[in-house]
Amino acid sequence: MQLNVSAILDDSARRHPDRLAIVAGDLRLGYRELRDDALAFAAELRSRGVRHGDRVALMLPNGVDFARAYYAVLAAGATVVPVHGLLVAEEAAFVLRHSGAVAVVCGGALRSVAGIAAADAGIKVLDVVTGGGRLDRPEPTEAGDIAAILYTSGTTGRPKGAQLTHLNLVMNATVMARDLIGLMPDDMVLGCLPLFHSYGQSCALNATLRAGAALVLAPRFTGPGALDLMVTEGITVFMGVPTMFHALNEAAAADPRRPAGLRVAVSGGAALPVALLERFEAAYDTVILEGYGLTETSPAATFNQHSTGRRPGTVGHPVWGVEVGIADVHVRDRVVPLPDGEVGEIVIRGHNVFDGYLDDPQATAEAVVDGWFRSGDLGVRDADGFLSIVDRSKDLIIRGGFNVYPREVEEVLARHPSIAEVSVVGIPDDVKGEEVCAAVVLRDDAPYTSSEDIVKWSRERLAKHKYPRKVRFLTALPLGPTGKVLKRELREVCT
Ligand code: ATP
Repeated sequence: MQLNVSAILDDSARRHPDRLAIVAGDLRLGYRELRDDALAFAAELRSRGVRHGDRVALMLPNGVDFARAYYAVLAAGATVVPVHGLLVAEEAAFVLRHSGAVAVVCGGALRSVAGIAAADAGIKVLDVVTGGGRLDRPEPTEAGDIAAILYTSGTTGRPKGAQLTHLNLVMNATVMARDLIGLMPDDMVLGCLPLFHSYGQSCALNATLRAGAALVLAPRFTGPGALDLMVTEGITVFMGVPTMFHALNEAAAADPRRPAGLRVAVSGGAALPVALLERFEAAYDTVILEGYGLTETSPAATFNQHSTGRRPGTVGHPVWGVEVGIADVHVRDRVVPLPDGEVGEIVIRGHNVFDGYLDDPQATAEAVVDGWFRSGDLGVRDADGFLSIVDRSKDLIIRGGFNVYPREVEEVLARHPSIAEVSVVGIPDDVKGEEVCAAVVLRDDAPYTSSEDIVKWSRERLAKHKYPRKVRFLTALPLGPTGKVLKRELREVCT
């Protein structure tokens, strides 16, 4: 069998043609139907001149059309460029131009932004169409051909186009489905994650279809909405980011219904505080398996696995076929390994490491050293091989010469009875260089709590250089589309 991401759909359609593949609102699509739709749109793309190796951008909300268009572009032998759903026209035009896309497939609420961006970039706009003839099978591609170019969300700077190969994506979907979650054809997976992002694409879409299971899509996530879907659709697997688990905990407090057979939940994308994990597991009578990865690692790199054990608060062990090391952050041109127990930069190598940033040899050379991908995250490995994410190296706070890892402070504050959500950042300080600031969202039912109370409470639990001297009360944390706290924005709010 050829190693093409669209063969994930083709293969499951051969094995389970009548099984349910995707549920989106009232639409319930079986595998044969989804595969036929994708091959029909692939034929349309070919007839419009799309050729092997061309890039085709997608600006589609989460829904069936995203899946149809995604597999169609890949079946046509082209490279798919899913564009971040929240970009304004000018930013989207940058991605269209930078990626050299020959066309953009759009729909739903993204149609007008896509139209402006496409006109700016001088390329055509296409709708998803599924009538007419269809390809017999996906066009042949090589394992090393670029399947997708995913632009990093830019929370840390200018967006870069991470190139992922068919091998990267097929392996990640397979490892996710088989080893990590153990997805079975009768699983009902709820994936509210945006499909333009690597987590949603690889873990929700590709892994679910790889297993022949059904994926339930929601255009946008809300806690009550997700709880309702869990109950009405009989969800067995939930994939989310920490803020979604928080919202589901709140929803559970207001709605007594629970899904009967939620056997596992997966968390990734950002640190999951242990207090949040425990509350969710108790409310939903299930387990959360936390994983870690980046767009550049397709994304799963480590995971709390059934086979190697689970340890809440850590991100588990490297996934099958992947090596993880801890490297000296100060040596940039080589990878100098550090022993277990020491904090250093997490480096990753294996089938999941991307094929470099599009047209950016300098960024690629800085990111991939001696075959290792430098993640920019600080981590530490314990004697049993469990990896803990200490923080992103760029989020590290240096207060009066001492390192403060925001993650550690957040873990402590998350245990405060009045605090619903917290994020800790460093803000400029004339004396100490940086000061530790906690941005907190209080629980709805919390009794009055002052910033002095929180500072005092933290002082009793954290070393002198670590506890936050400043507390900002917010009604919500600034979040990106994948539910990640935008620390750069937060720093501005707190400063
Ligand atoms: P950019 O790279 O442009 O800043 P981004 O943050 O959206 O954008 P992603 O590739 O989506 O980029 O996210 C990868 C990052 O998410 C990792 O580098 C890490 O900091 C964080 N992350 C992922 N999983 C976890 C986890 N389980 N615990 C802590 N952090 C995590």
